Amino acid sequence: MFEDKNPQRTPLNQLGEFGLIEKIKSQFTLQHPSSKVGIGDDAAVIRHEHETVISTDLLVEGVHFDLSYVPLKHLGYKAVVVNLSDLYAMNAVPTQITVGLAVSNRFPLEAIDELYAGIALACKRYKVDLVGGDTTSSKTGLLLSVTAVGTANEKQLTYRSGAQENDLIVVSGDLGGAYMGLQILEREKAVYQVNPNNQPDLSEYAYAVERQLKPEARKDVVDLLQSWEIVPTAMIDISDGLSSELLHLCKASKLGCKIYENKLPVDPEVLRICKEMSINNTTAALNGGEDYELLFTVDQKHYETIKDHPLLSIIGHMTAKDSGEYLITGLDQQIALTAQGWTAESAED
Ligand code: ADP
Ligand code: MG
Repeated sequence: MFEDKNPQRTPLNQLGEFGLIEKIKSQFTLQHPSSKVGIGDDAAVIRHEHETVISTDLLVEGVHFDLSYVPLKHLGYKAVVVNLSDLYAMNAVPTQITVGLAVSNRFPLEAIDELYAGIALACKRYKVDLVGGDTTSSKTGLLLSVTAVGTANEKQLTYRSGAQENDLIVVSGDLGGAYMGLQILEREKAVYQVNPNNQPDLSEYAYAVERQLKPEARKDVVDLLQSWEIVPTAMIDISDGLSSELLHLCKASKLGCKIYENKLPVDPEVLRICKEMSINNTTAALNGGEDYELLFTVDQKHYETIKDHPLLSIIGHMTAKDSGEYLITGLDQQIALTAQGWTAESAED
């Protein structure tokens, strides 16, 4: 990490825009039956039987990622995954992506190859086709925009607005890992800047760093729910932290909520890092972004099905709107949730 592992540098203009597009095209074959026309014409053609679901994310160098510790292959992978995560949060099946790319001449062809290797890996892993995009130059840095297209039967679609009072609140996987991984990477970058001979040993932080650099979208959770024939009443993916996403669900569903501190799933390694860095682990779980877990609500009748599944944690339930949005701490205090997590000032007994 932090090193340029790619000694060969072929300037992009040697290949030209069309050469680059040809090279990209040659790395992808269409695998989805709904992909009729991919890269090469003025537009892609897709044929879906059901509703079409679309989502876009834009990633800007220096704002959303730092190439001093994010390898380009990981960036490509993550850019796709975070988009697919939005489609899974609608309970939809992603089928195609397009990629918009602006690059400065700082990036050689080999760098773009790395980026697309990550994109290709994500496409393969999640069975989606790259069917188009746009390529242009940028004065500084790298911009990457991914649009994901998917499909869902109308009855399967889950909105943020469908939660009902007393529904269970469920979260997949564990929380705070990606945030703590970022704290570790930032810390090691600072150490490296002082002493470039000091290559960091991240083996003790492998899980958290992986959560930050190579997140996965919860296709497995969507598949699991489908196998149980459970359609969540509402769903959202956790990109900005549990607290903020839960408030979105409450607002859209016009309800309140109660979640329990001792039910929040946090990985043991993440707990250890929190301790090491003096960060409260509940704060990391509530506010830490980029975990890309799914947060959803289901009717109480599914309690027995869900309660012991290792991928899922029931963390609370929806309440009437005028009951507010609260975290119940391990000490049985009620604390109001805020978009930034929770604040001591808003505590009430
Ligand atoms: P246009 O001038 O109509 O925008 P382009 O020359 O930009 O056409 O694109 C030609 C084809 O290559 C189109 O099918 C487009 O979707 C595809 N394409 C262009 N850039 C990319 C990219 N970065 N990734 C994937 N496909 C791309
Ligand atoms: Mg174009």
